[in-house]
Amino acid sequence: MGKLSVEEIRKLAVRIATEKLAPHASDIDTNRSFPWENICELRKAGLFGLGIAEKEEGFEFDRVCFALVVREIAKACASTALIQVSHSIVTKAIEWSGSEAAKNKWPPEILRKKVLGAFAVHEPDCGSNAGAITTRAKKEGEAYIVNGLKFFITSAGEADIYMALVRTDPEKGSQGLSALLIEKETPGLSFGLPETKMGLTSTSSREMSFNDCRVPLENLLGREGDGTQIIGRAVIGWGFYGASAISVGIAKSATELSIKHSKERTIAGHPIAVHQAVQFMITDMIVGTEAAEALLMDCATKADSSPDTAVINGLKTKLFASEMAVDVTNKAIQVHGGHGYCRDYIVERLFRDARGLMLHFKTSEWLRQDIAKAAMGI
Ligand SMILES: Cc1cc2nc3c(=O)[nH]c(=O)nc-3n(C[C@H](O)[C@H](O)[C@H](O)COP(=O)(O)OP(=O)(O)OC[C@H]3O[C@@H](n4cnc5c(N)ncnc54)[C@H](O)[C@@H]3O)c2cc1C
Repeated sequence: MGKLSVEEIRKLAVRIATEKLAPHASDIDTNRSFPWENICELRKAGLFGLGIAEKEEGFEFDRVCFALVVREIAKACASTALIQVSHSIVTKAIEWSGSEAAKNKWPPEILRKKVLGAFAVHEPDCGSNAGAITTRAKKEGEAYIVNGLKFFITSAGEADIYMALVRTDPEKGSQGLSALLIEKETPGLSFGLPETKMGLTSTSSREMSFNDCRVPLENLLGREGDGTQIIGRAVIGWGFYGASAISVGIAKSATELSIKHSKERTIAGHPIAVHQAVQFMITDMIVGTEAAEALLMDCATKADSSPDTAVINGLKTKLFASEMAVDVTNKAIQVHGGHGYCRDYIVERLFRDARGLMLHFKTSEWLRQDIAKAAMGI
């Protein structure tokens, strides 16, 4: 495939999302089935290997382009978009911090052999505090022996390769963390049952249990002790732009559906669109969505040109976009009245999906604390 402009890539994403993803989004939400068909369609279009694809296939995926593609996917199916963002975090981490062996092995496999990636940071006792991680990786000869438990991992059990944050030095706090690539078939790795979540239902969130898993030393990303930095750069400095784009996509979809519904729903012979109260809700939805989108694009542009600002801008855009999407989808249900509270209406799913983004990656409370501390220098 030849080199495409950003606008051509966005249009391609719109076409795949509209024609291939949107028609099944409600079904996969209801069935809680992992959307392999969607992933396949995105792969065929060259839109799934974001990050790695740029060298191999001629795409230019910076954060701005990444956000535009993810936004369009999320408008159709937020679960698929979240799986895509989790995957791209791993591809970016390999590109930025992989050993020569990892860089030679995984990018071609990801592109051509349908390998899916996921990242595993969260543990039952760590919340959004990665410094509290206890999953232990002990060096023994040519391998790390990994023991511990990860929780709520998107794509767990489905993905082929996991970027796990592990503790290589118990004495060093957050400096004692490292990032390891762990393959699904590694003996000793097992998966729990999928959590029955409120939204983002087809993303297969499961527990991962590591029992004496032998992981080759070449699967270390960066150096020992680099884990916090690697996760910060790949998850916050890249993935948060995808997370924000999912929220913007959900809100755009909710706004469009609400405008349509307000013109179609008539009461006593008049569409509800004529009421100022309904117009006010629509206005707030439009302005909220556009404000979040403007912040996302501004933050992404800054991060693309000055990568050292990627983390702080990632925190800001993720906080604003995720909260905006919950507000907008909540209003969408109000515009739809009782219908919006029923499974038959898409806005019901959009609200449930939006809510998960205020928790995933980092909760709003942690984001607020991180942003304030950065501003105060404490
Ligand atoms: C849909 C979904 C997908 C996910 N996918 C992944 C994945 O792929 N990989 C992965 O690693 N993780 C994943 N997670 C886990 C996610 O990162 C955690 O849910 C998140 O970090 C919050 O942790 P917790 O659920 O344990 O909440 P808790 O930490 O128990 O938080 C509960 C409440 O306490 C507040 N709180 C906790 N500590 C503090 C503090 N120090 N100061 C102020 N407030 C505090 C929180 O903000 C929150 O309001 C996913 C979660 C969701 C919902």
